This record gives sequence, C-alpha cells and structure tokens, in this order.
Amino acid sequence: MRIAFVTGGGSGLGKSIAHRLAADGFSVAIADIDQSSAELVAKEIQEDGARALALRCDVSSLDSVKEAVATATERLKGGLDVLVNNAGFDEPEFFLQTDPELWDRLIAVNLKGVLNCTFAAAPLIAESCRESGYGRIINIASDAGRVGSLGEAVYAAAKGGVIAFTKAMARELARDKITVNAICPGPADTPMTDRIRSSALGDKLMARMADVTPLKRLALPEDVAGLVSYFARDEANFITAQVVSVSGGLTIPG
Ligand code: NAD
Repeated sequence: MRIAFVTGGGSGLGKSIAHRLAADGFSVAIADIDQSSAELVAKEIQEDGARALALRCDVSSLDSVKEAVATATERLKGGLDVLVNNAGFDEPEFFLQTDPELWDRLIAVNLKGVLNCTFAAAPLIAESCRESGYGRIINIASDAGRVGSLGEAVYAAAKGGVIAFTKAMARELARDKITVNAICPGPADTPMTDRIRSSALGDKLMARMADVTPLKRLALPEDVAGLVSYFARDEANFITAQVVSVSGGLTIPG
C-alpha cells in the first residue's frame, strides 16, 4: 500500500486531501502542529476502514519534521511515496504596517516548511521510487504567489518561493522519477479564511471575492483535494514542474 504524508492535515484543505488520498487507497500520515485535530482526522479515516496515523509536527522545525517522517515510515511499515506540503497560514496586513517578526513566522512555515519537509522526505520517496518507479511531491502554494495579493505581501513572497522551489525540485528529482507539482488555490472556504475574515482588512479583502470570481464562489476543500488526487495517480506520471490554479477563474496567469 502506498503511503502519503500530508502536512497541515488536521484542518481545511489538508483534512480534505487526507480523506481523499485515503479513499484513493493510500495509507495517510497526517502531520500537524495541532495534534488533536490530526488525531480527529485520523480517527475519521480509520472509521471509514482506511489506514491513517496522526503525528505532531511543526514544519518550521527540521528536527520535528525528521522525527515525524521517521515515525510515519516506521509505524505505517513501508517506504514513503507521496509528500503533500500543505501546512501554511496567513495574517493579512498592509506590508508597511507589519511587524517584521511576522515576516519570519510567515516565511518559516509557508516557505521553509516546504524546504524542511522536502529535505526530510524526498530521499525516502526516491528510495521507494527506485523499486516502484512512482513518487510524488505536491506543494500547496497559492494564487497570491502567482499574481500578488494586497495585504498578503510576505505570504505572497513565500508562496512565490514555493512555486520556484517546485520547478527547481522537479528538475533535480526527475532523475529519481519523482514528479513535483504545485497547486495554487484561490480563496477557499476553510478555517484559515474564517480567521482572515475576523480582521477588518481580511473581512474587506474577502467580502467581494465570490462576486469577482467568474465561477461565483470560493473554492471548496474538495476542489483542491481532487487535483491532489489527480497528481497522485499513475496516469499523471509524465506531468511535472506544473503550477495549476484552482480558483474558479479569479486569476488567469499568462
Ligand atoms: P487551515 O488553517 O484550515 O489549515 C492549516 C493547517 O496547517 C492547520 O491544521 C494548522 O494546524 C496546520 N499548521 C499551521 N502551521 C503549521 C506548522 N508550523 N506545522 C504543521 N502544521 C501547521 O488552512 P487552509 O485554508 O486549509 O490552508 C491550507 C494551505 O492552503 C495553506 O498552505 C494555505 O496557505 C493554502 N491556501 C489556502 C487558501 C485559502 O483561501 N484557504 C488559499 C490559497 C492557499
């Protein structure tokens, strides 16, 4: 059975991704800084008859990530086949009004978290891939990283970094036959968006989002999970270094 490691799998998009991969037949390690939410998702997946493991993991700490990846492979008894770098957060504020301490936190989780997890997991995925010819890294970036986003300058910079890292790693890991792709959700209906709405600027940013989106709604977690599921399929074997938006046409990058 293939094993997937999903960061931030305790909530929102990550929770939906974990459920979808479990339904697709993966054993799923749910790695989240909030262990209790990861445990709830693991329990739901187990009740559906699939294999899941909850792990406490802070993606901004390489030591924490290494420990979680080692525990996942030991407890799920297999190699690692798929890494979904999904953990992230945002606190919207006009850049010139931000406290520089926030920049460090945004970059540590949204960008460095992806580097840490890739550094720890890619060698194990490559090892499995040598036998199976199958390995995937799927990064959840953001349309903010493709087109910029008012009130999200540092978050957008971090996500732009994830997009560039995706393309570079697709080149480096091609020799191991690991594909590396990025998904850019537009505004999605998740607890993160609910928190963004709780600030005056966030509420203003979100108010007209559905209206200005050609398909007239926010993304649902399942919309993003569906594309993760596609990238994880065997039939996506020849697709790498791609950046795909799931935003109802809100952003139309060239
Ligand atoms: P969410 O807040 O609902 O879930 C994020 C999860 O990540 C939570 O379970 C949280 O505990 C976990 N997490 C946060 N920091 C962590 C850390 N240091 N280590 C491990 N886990 C950590 O958010 P979401 O909306 O589901 O966002 C998921 C991803 O999608 C993020 O990378 C986010 O930037 C991206 N995204 C979201 C939207 C949106 O509108 N919701 C849009 C574009 C991109």
